[in-house]
Amino acid sequence: MKHTFCVDVSDKGHNGLKKMSDIKAIAHLMRELEDGLVACMRCGMCQAVCPVFSQTGREADVARGKLALLDGLMQEMFENPEGAYERLNRCLLCGSCAANCPSGVKVLDIFLQARAILAGFLGLPPAKRMVLRGLLAHPQIFDRVVEWASRFQTIFTKPVDDVIGTSCARIASPLLGGRHFRTLAPQAFHQETPPMIIPSGTSGGLRVGFFVGCLIDKVFPQIARASLKILRRYGVGVFLPGTQGCCGIPALSSGDRQTFLSLLKHNLALFEAQAYDTLVTACATCTSTIKKVWPAMVHDQTAEFQERVARLSVKTQDINAFMVSQFNPAPAVTKAAKTVVTCHDPCHLKKSLGVFAEPRQLIRANPDCRLVEMNDPDACCGMGGTFNLQYYEISTKLGKIKGKRIVDTGASVVATGCPACMMQISDVLSRAGNRVAVRHPIEIFAEVEN
Ligand code: SF4
Ligand code: SF4
Repeated sequence: MKHTFCVDVSDKGHNGLKKMSDIKAIAHLMRELEDGLVACMRCGMCQAVCPVFSQTGREADVARGKLALLDGLMQEMFENPEGAYERLNRCLLCGSCAANCPSGVKVLDIFLQARAILAGFLGLPPAKRMVLRGLLAHPQIFDRVVEWASRFQTIFTKPVDDVIGTSCARIASPLLGGRHFRTLAPQAFHQETPPMIIPSGTSGGLRVGFFVGCLIDKVFPQIARASLKILRRYGVGVFLPGTQGCCGIPALSSGDRQTFLSLLKHNLALFEAQAYDTLVTACATCTSTIKKVWPAMVHDQTAEFQERVARLSVKTQDINAFMVSQFNPAPAVTKAAKTVVTCHDPCHLKKSLGVFAEPRQLIRANPDCRLVEMNDPDACCGMGGTFNLQYYEISTKLGKIKGKRIVDTGASVVATGCPACMMQISDVLSRAGNRVAVRHPIEIFAEVEN
């Protein structure tokens, strides 16, 4: 379909008619994109590490193929913007390409920028627009809707594995398909734990802000509970503000910069309200988003705003890394550890932040656990956020490879520091009938006796 890129006073979305402010924003993003693309020398080193390419064998799925497409994005926007958007979306945003790129191309920033340009040009599909702009952008409304959904979810779902904690749909559902998933918690973390300020104790004045994240709040509140338990045990002061919002990455990866920026501003104001040393999160994706994506996506904001974002992002840290850097817990001396644990490295923890030794150190501190490594623990599990919803077949193929590597270790527990990876690994293990518990390293560490 040919698109008309002309001026209009209303946002007509999909037919390509745009407001002047939209055109200026798109032109600005386009200039930034062109600057980023210059560094790619088309060497193809990203091909060998791309999980999507490993399953499809299509050059168009590799970073090099996508960057070549973006080089001609202006032309593509007039000829086949839907096709360009679809090609860009066939990506897990895992960062394997960026981590392996000799030229240091900021591949993920470029892809996110390009998705924003194309979504700005095409308009968001109505369902996405409703979820992102109507729900996610408003943390209080989002919380209430999810609270309501958690009360009625058993009408539509039934438990399938009590070790992994998975359920499946009671009746055929196009959205859920044959997935085995972790349901919403009966009570979200924000419902059971009021906003609080805990003074610091034995840590000698150490204070943290605790950013919960949507998946931990609504699906895995036990991870937030374990995090608070550990911080209290080590005498760390905690600032836990209420009405926390999503970090914004689901919106940005769908090209919705408006919702992303609104959530960023909301969370920034919340976490600026108190003084503390470190902003801690137990979600690899939230940590990586606040540390890397927030500062990279605010170039069009005022210098003062950019400084505020930079101040918060620089003091953000994954909870495994925080505990090890501050307290360096010793490995437990044990002769008869009962539980064999293996560890999966989330892309957003290892490739994005270089954190991989720290979760293992926390697991080794538990005398009941013996750590056994799987093959390629840092291979992507195939989740990729909305990639799993759009390309479930490719996502599952990658997940099954991960599942087999986990099972081959003989472990009864797989630990990983990202709740999205926990969802994907739970699905593939449960569907294969492999009853391996899926946990966060901080849960395992929190079980260590005082
Ligand atoms: S993104 Fe990096 S690794 Fe991939 S082709 Fe370009 S320069 Fe090479
Ligand atoms: S981010 Fe991951 S899936 Fe996307 S192009 Fe790079 S390596 Fe491939």
